[in-house]
Amino acid sequence: MSAARFAPSPTGLLHKGHAFSALTASEVARRSCGRFVLRIEDIDFTRCRPDFEAAIHDDLAWLGLDWERPVLRQSEHGADYGAALERLVGRGLVYRSFKTRKEVAVAMLSAPHGPGGGFRDAPLPAGEEARRLAAGEPFAWRLNLAAAEREAGPLTFEDARRGVVAVDASAAGDVVLARKDVGVAYHLAVVVDDARQEITDVVRGEDLFEATHVQRLLQALLGLPEPRYHHHRLIADAKGARLAKRSGAETLRALRERGVEAVALRRELGFA
Ligand code: GLU
Repeated sequence: MSAARFAPSPTGLLHKGHAFSALTASEVARRSCGRFVLRIEDIDFTRCRPDFEAAIHDDLAWLGLDWERPVLRQSEHGADYGAALERLVGRGLVYRSFKTRKEVAVAMLSAPHGPGGGFRDAPLPAGEEARRLAAGEPFAWRLNLAAAEREAGPLTFEDARRGVVAVDASAAGDVVLARKDVGVAYHLAVVVDDARQEITDVVRGEDLFEATHVQRLLQALLGLPEPRYHHHRLIADAKGARLAKRSGAETLRALRERGVEAVALRRELGFA
């Protein structure tokens, strides 16, 4: 059976862009009589809040959506992400990175890895790594992209609009798979859960198109199934700027409070 998911992070209130994404995912599921799955991506305990999580449920119900229960909350599955990471550690496909954000930014300025290329580094010499570990210095786990690409070989993914796309994860570089502070990171948690929840259709905005390259690579390394991808257009405000939580886009709650009806919003977004 097919399954499409909407996977918000409870780091703020949802806006029209999220409504569009959730409605698109629900529509993709409905068209193939599949499951519609809501997943709460709350691994970042420094930014996620229970009231935002409750608001996600309220907003989606107001939109007229219905989703499978129980809802998976990533914060309850740390051990599974840890196990996936261990498999990559065991095969030498990740390394410990002690660099601070500032050091990464400086390194990117002085040694850019090709236009648009992400940060790349190398494991520390064993002695230095042991010294830093003994000193209790915090570290992240980064993907060794060169080793990962060698191991996985050429890959593709299927995008609903573009067709077959060749995987090129160079924009992600040696991406962080386990953060210093929260012990896991977005890409790893997503591929583990898309597989666990048997997601056949990953529906999300164009802004996550690059993420798909590295996620497809991780799926291949971990032997996980390959879903189809639907990267939908991004919803803009009246001035043409992309809606974002950060820039204070009008929230669904605010729309509701000023009397906008769900049916009107659905119509505006093309889901009459
Ligand atoms: N949790 C991510 C976000 O809210 C989306 C993840 C995804 O769709 O893969 O931006």
